[in-house]
Amino acid sequence: MDGSDWSNGPIPDAFKCVGADLRDWLFPPVCSCCGNRIACGQPVLLCSRCRRAVDHPIESPCPCCAMPQFADHCRWCARTRYHFSATVAWGEYRGGLRRAVVKAKQERWEPLARSLAALLSEKLLPVAESWKIDAVVPIPTHWRRRWQRMTNAAEVLATVIGRRLQLPVFPNGLACRRLAGKQGTLTPAARRKNVRGVFSVTRQRSLQSKNVLLVDDVMTTGATVDEASRMLLAAGVSSVWIGVMARGVGQNNFDPCNAGVPRKIRVG
Ligand SMILES: [Zn+2]
Ligand SMILES: [Zn+2]
Repeated sequence: MDGSDWSNGPIPDAFKCVGADLRDWLFPPVCSCCGNRIACGQPVLLCSRCRRAVDHPIESPCPCCAMPQFADHCRWCARTRYHFSATVAWGEYRGGLRRAVVKAKQERWEPLARSLAALLSEKLLPVAESWKIDAVVPIPTHWRRRWQRMTNAAEVLATVIGRRLQLPVFPNGLACRRLAGKQGTLTPAARRKNVRGVFSVTRQRSLQSKNVLLVDDVMTTGATVDEASRMLLAAGVSSVWIGVMARGVGQNNFDPCNAGVPRKIRVG
């Protein structure tokens, strides 16, 4: 390629700046949640009010499952052997974060899903290198649910995270073989049974020996991501790590193995 011909190569920085300014002038940036105008050049398209609303950090999260720990002890990991290695959750599934995550499940709120993904990317960036992640895979949705919603929030999150972390994304790395019953009102044990055999690995050769970052929007008991992790490991993936937008911690961090009192977590 001739030195002056940059049409097929990277765009020079000066042109990028002019392009970004022109774009901001023609289409002033707005908050992807409330639609209010925001300042140009923001890395995340959220106004300060909406940004604060989705800020629900989990108190002393367990490094493995991201549930709140008590005195450095995770009651979930003490009794459940997860197939994944560690979890990063942006925050707790409540308040403004819960409302934003529920909205982001719909196609018309995809810009909000991308903003949430940008936030999660910030949190994943420092750990992805130590986890040696080399592929990003979203939790798939069944075609019928996708047809209803016209989008899969997990896939939108994975695409943005992959771009921001400069990692390859495999949107169809996993497939959803059947439509599992609604998880929202089931007990943890029933959830595990409900998702058993739901996923299959479709990109087995591409994902072989890879360290996979599995992405989903909400994690409650962890049954769904654990089942997907189990299938990935069985297909030859080296390790599975989890990145989720919101972690449902339930009321008072209920005990998943307390069979006598099956508490429920609701997912919107
Ligand atoms: Zn806003
Ligand atoms: Zn744990």
